[in-house]
Formats: sequence, structure tokens, C-alpha cells
Amino acid sequence: MTHLVNDPKKFAADVLAGFVRANADRVMAVHGGAVRTTETPDRQVAIVLGGGSGHYPAFAGWIGEGMAHGAVCGNIFASPSASQAASVARAAHAGGGVLFGFGNYAGDVLQFSRAIEMLAEEGIEARIVTVTDDIASSDIHADRRGIAGDLPVFKISGAAAAQGASLDEVERVTRHANERTFTIGVAMSGCTLPGAEAPLFEVAEGRLAIGLGIHGEPGLDEVPLRTADEVADDLVDRLLVALGSDRDSDRLAVLVNGLGATTYEEQFVVFARVAERFEAEGFTLVEPEVGEHVTSLDMAGLSVTVVLLDEELEELWTAPVDTPAFRRGSFGSSTATSPRRGPLPQGVVAERTAGSEPSHAAAAAALVWLDGVVDVLKEHEAELGALDAVAGDGDHGQGMVLGVVGAADRGHEAVAAGVGLGALLQEVGEAWAESAGGTSGALWGAALVAAGERLGDADSPQDGDVVEAVSAAVGAMREMGKAEPGDKTMMDAAIPFVETLAEQVDGGASLEDAWAVATQTAAAAAEATSSLQAKKGRAKTHGDHSVGHADPGAVSFALVVGTMSTKER
Ligand code: ADP
Ligand code: MG
Repeated sequence: MTHLVNDPKKFAADVLAGFVRANADRVMAVHGGAVRTTETPDRQVAIVLGGGSGHYPAFAGWIGEGMAHGAVCGNIFASPSASQAASVARAAHAGGGVLFGFGNYAGDVLQFSRAIEMLAEEGIEARIVTVTDDIASSDIHADRRGIAGDLPVFKISGAAAAQGASLDEVERVTRHANERTFTIGVAMSGCTLPGAEAPLFEVAEGRLAIGLGIHGEPGLDEVPLRTADEVADDLVDRLLVALGSDRDSDRLAVLVNGLGATTYEEQFVVFARVAERFEAEGFTLVEPEVGEHVTSLDMAGLSVTVVLLDEELEELWTAPVDTPAFRRGSFGSSTATSPRRGPLPQGVVAERTAGSEPSHAAAAAALVWLDGVVDVLKEHEAELGALDAVAGDGDHGQGMVLGVVGAADRGHEAVAAGVGLGALLQEVGEAWAESAGGTSGALWGAALVAAGERLGDADSPQDGDVVEAVSAAVGAMREMGKAEPGDKTMMDAAIPFVETLAEQVDGGASLEDAWAVATQTAAAAAEATSSLQAKKGRAKTHGDHSVGHADPGAVSFALVVGTMSTKER
């Protein structure tokens, strides 16, 4: 349970505010996260880490010399939005380019990729390296999710940047470190999202879940609870398999990472056995770490991470670092302690222009729909969260509500300023992605923007225009997420919806009737996702858990379009 909470929806923001106050000499808040208060040497590569909140010290606790220049802080367990990522990157950039680093999760990949496009237009070069250390999540290294390996990998990136390496070099060494980083963990109990009544998953009394995720994703395997040494042995055995037999080094960085509710004492007991085992295998442990580095709220459990060090990685792993949560060595007389010069860069804010009279009227009508969607999603928030907790991270209800509320708030401002339908949809799309974060936030945002671009602000839309706009919206989702029918995503509801809508209108039905038929198709298609195995998104590493439960994104898609069919056009 997370006990001390104000408004659960503002929990991540409240955390960040407190963290920044407590470390005011080192970090300062910017839109979307935090950056160093100190000046970064000219042309040094800026390391910007990110992802959802709820993992402290990851990621904001690592802002400081020798590690990160900034951290993007999304909502709890939800990826930040592209504009938040771009904003932190702008503030951190010192002329040498930006390396975005985060764990390999679909929502983060979508949002940070979009941020790279935004920054490129402003002349800032940014790259992405995702950490893929969790050996339980896939046999293919590049497909694995990122967990506690974030610490050593980004420690190494930060050291390379501090030594003046170019963006190409920092990217190369970060990838190299990630390729040699492996983690496996165990959970004794799940975490509870602030404001929620029950944990995202439960491990039965006397059992251990092996292969935990850091968003409350359930473990992949359950075994009886054993002694600390037996648990350590199991984890080490699995890591030895991952390290393989033909290794080019016998030097290891080792991290025992507590998830939030497991005592340091237990972590040390496990570490003692882990160290003994690796040493018996002929390894030398280089500056091991034991403690809470990548947490998962109040989840009980721990993980063991190893990095197979070569000479280059060892030098970077042992280099000094000075951040609120992670310190090592000393920088001596440093250039990076002088305060920041100059004001923070501001994002580009577009001016609103008024639409034609009929297009403005259509915008006002669309806003009534959107307000209806707010009510419906709030009503179904808990149910969508529970569906997402089956195989994902439990945040889909929260993400959809944050997204639509942000969209509706912005929509009211835009309509009051006289915009037309096209401009309205583009603005609410941006606001949705911004407020929601996550995979679904990025996709809904892109969809609304695409529909707005298609409709424009000149005329009142005809039925055919609406069909084309919906088709553009679903096309944008498909292009961004790259999911195909049958992958068990919202596309399994969205594609049949738009196909039915087009068929009905082509066949002479009124838009209202066509919409009603297409809504039924979408609802049935969403239900039918129950029998599918997840192939995309966070749920894919837990394919089997999701069978028998509908895809949350498909269910919410049907709810959103369903609301629109019952409203006056
Ligand atoms: P996150 O997965 O980042 O936590 P949400 O929980 O808000 O985001 O949304 C999860 C939903 O997003 C899934 O149920 C699925 O419908 C949808 N989704 C995930 N990945 C994709 C993708 N690549 N393309 C389309 N939809 C996707
Ligand atoms: Mg989710």
C-alpha cells in the first residue's frame, strides 16, 4: 500500500516537487521533469533518462555529474509524453546532442521517438538507447524489457559523456554496456498504485515469483519460498546461463537491487551468497552495489544484475559520479559546479487562429462528444486498469482518463478562442498525448491529430469527410504502433470499426446509423480479443496471462467510439 497520498492522479507531480525541493542545490524542475542546476561544459553530450515515475531513485535521483543531465518524469508507471521528453532535452542540451536512455517499453519508445523528431526540427540531435537486461522477459536480448540494468548502463553512459565523448561514442558504449548486462529478479508481493485498493498482482503466501517486472507485471514462474541462499543460487544459475560459457572477461559489475519493500538486510544476505557463487566461478566482482536503485513503489522483492566488464566498461563503471542517489569517488576540482547560465529554453507555442463559422460550430459539437467521453472513461477507469493489470502494468484506465481530461480541458480553451474542427482535434490530440503518456496516449494523440489534419477548418464536414478522417486517425495509430490485426491491441477494435463505418456509408447509410453499426462491430471485436495472445506492447512478455481477458486498449476504443454514437451530432 502507498499510504501517504494526496490526489492519486497528482502523486507523480507531488513526488517530483518534493524531490526538487530536497535537492535544490543540484536539480531544478522544468516542464516534464528535472535537469541539473549546474552548467554543463559546452558541447558535452546530455544524458536524458526517463520513463514513468514510481521507480525512485530511477531516474531523477541520477541527475548529476558523471551520470544524467536530466530526467523526464511521466506519471506513475506511464511513459512521459513526447513534448515532456523534448522539453527536458532542450533544457539539458549543451550543444553536443542528447542521448535518451530508458528501459525497453513500447510507450516510451513511441513517445521518445516522437520527441526526437520534434527536437530535430529545432536543430537538436537526439538518439535513443533502450536497456534490455531482463533475461526473464525474452530469449532475444533486444526484445527484453529494461529493469535494474538501467543503473550500470546509464552510469557508464554518464561517465563517457563526462569524459567528453561524442554523441556517436556515447551511443556506442551505451549499447555495448547494455549488450553485456543481464538481470533476473524475484517478487514476494506486488505493488499498489497510489489510490488503488489492491496490489497489481499478488504472490500467494509462501510462494516466490521469478522474473518480475518493475511495473507490477507478474512474474513468469512461481516457486515455493526458500532460504535466501537458495534464492540467490537460483538467480545466479540463471545469470550464468545468460552469460554463456565462452566469455572474454572474468570481471563483473554486480548489483543487488531492492524493489521497495525488501529490507537492506535481506539484500545483503542475498548478496553474500551471490558474491560467493560468482567468485567460485572464477569471477572478480568490481565495485558491487547493494541497495534500492530501480524500485517499483512498495513491491517486495529484489533482482540481481551483472555486467560483464571489459577494460573500457570497467573504467567507466568505476569513474566518479555525484548525484542525489548515487555517488562514487570524487571529481576533484570540477568544471561542472558553476551555476547554470542563461534562462531555460521555452517550448514553441503555436498561435490559435479562428476557423470558419461552420467549422467552429462543428468544433463546439465535437467538444460535447469529448465531454461525454470523459464521463464514460471515468466510469470505466477501474475496469480498464484491472484488465491492464492482467498482463500489463495496470495503468490503462488512469492513462485514458488523464488523456481525455487533458484533451477536454485544452478543447474548452481552444473552442472559446474560436478555432475550427481541424485545429480543435489537433490541439486535443497533442494535449491527450501530453497528459496521458504511455502507449495508448501516444496512439490516441496521433489519431486525433491526423483526423484534425484531414478535416481542416474551412467547411462543415460532410459524412464522407468524417469517414476519411476516422480512416486517417486509425491509419496514424497503425503506422505509429506497427500492430497488425490479431496482435491483441486496440487495432483489433479500430480496424473493424473503420472498415464497417466506410462500408455502411458507401452502402447509403446515414453517418449516424453507420456509426451505430460500426460501434457494435468494435465492441464485439474488442470482446473477441479475449481469445488472442498478446504480440505487441507491454503485454507481449506475458502472452499467456492475457488469454481469456480482452485487451484493455481494444475495450476502451469501443467505449470511446460508443459514446460518440449516442450523442447528438
Ligand atoms: P502502456 O502499455 O504504455 O502501459 P496503456 O496501458 O495505456 O499503455 O495501453 C495499453 C494498450 O495499448 C494495450 O491494451 C493495447 O491495446 C495498446 N497497444 C500497445 N501497443 C500497441 C501497438 N504497438 N499498437 C497499437 N496498440 C497498442
Ligand atoms: Mg499499461
